[in-house]
Amino acid sequence: MDLFGHLSSHNYGELHFKLDKASGLKAIVAIHDSRLGPALGGCRFVHYETDESAVVDALRLARGMTYKAALAGLKHGGGKSVIIRPRGAFDRRSLFRAFGQFLEDLGGHYITAEDSGTSIEDMDVIRSVTKNVTGIDMSRGGSGDPSPFTALGTRRGIEACVRQKLGKDSLKGIHVAIQGVGHVGYYLSKELHAAGAKLSVADIDPLKSERAKREFGAEVVTLDKIAETPCDVFSPNALGAGLNDQTIPSLQCPIVAGAANNQLAEPRHGEDLHARGILYAPDYAINAGGLVNVAQEVLGYDANVSREKTLKIYDTIFDIAERSKKSNLPTYRVADMLVEERLAAASQSSS
Ligand code: NAD
Repeated sequence: MDLFGHLSSHNYGELHFKLDKASGLKAIVAIHDSRLGPALGGCRFVHYETDESAVVDALRLARGMTYKAALAGLKHGGGKSVIIRPRGAFDRRSLFRAFGQFLEDLGGHYITAEDSGTSIEDMDVIRSVTKNVTGIDMSRGGSGDPSPFTALGTRRGIEACVRQKLGKDSLKGIHVAIQGVGHVGYYLSKELHAAGAKLSVADIDPLKSERAKREFGAEVVTLDKIAETPCDVFSPNALGAGLNDQTIPSLQCPIVAGAANNQLAEPRHGEDLHARGILYAPDYAINAGGLVNVAQEVLGYDANVSREKTLKIYDTIFDIAERSKKSNLPTYRVADMLVEERLAAASQSSS
């Protein structure tokens, strides 16, 4: 792999590796950008076929964190870490203690959090070695489950889109088709139902869609029909790449706004949505509530402050939608440009 070529083409700052023979730890920390503050981002603990695929995963994810943190107005850069899950037996506590020591040695350049394959218990073990960790247990000053905050921010983003695109100040009677009612999708349904919206839902787990029907009066739709449901807002809250060549032509809505990460299969799909006159709320702008909540842990956790900051996602999404309308640029490009301006301003003020 052309490592330095890859780093330079994605404007990377740092890439750190740790091999700890005693515990068997093989870990990578990718710090994409730290101009706005120490890098913040989750730690994955999964199997990788090759070391190279672990490096690529860390690099790919850290860059997205820079953009999400900058647009949310956080004083953090973007980072991500990966612990390569051993194939044989291992002592989980020793592994995560060794990882904590790795973060301590990095001197606070990177602050970790939960991600795929890691848990609150793992974060607690890391915390016994270093303070450069978030997502610890609430009883120890942690911020708890990020999903309700992600859902709150997503609801606010939907409100901004409805205001800007449909000229309505309320969600009363607004029809939202929700793809995926897992952690975030469930709390989002709750928020939208309380605001008077009408819901259609689909989930591969029938128990989850039935729960939304029971608790929020949602109509249950089949998986293949949810994206083409005639509605005011299509809200992806399942997996990535859901906005693609197959789904975009069949959308029957003026707004796409949901919490799923990496919704556009490719950037050009952001152009396609714009060309169809559909207002797309950029994923990393609308789903930042969980990150806002985790970042509050670094400052001293207060759920009310997290909530106040998360409510501001309305202003961010409204601003992006307005700029897109005035400039005739797709919203995903407007969001990227706003981030790039903020990062450039941070470079200037530090030089
Ligand atoms: P989750 O696993 O709890 O929920 C995802 C749900 O989608 C599950 O119920 C699953 O059964 C369902 N699903 C999977 N494939 C589907 C399909 N093809 N059609 C319909 N439903 C399908 O995950 P989550 O934590 O709720 O996260 C959802 C999305 O939001 C992910 O893309 C995640 O990266 C993103 N996100 C989550 C948070 C957070 O705070 N949890 C923060 C930011 C972004």
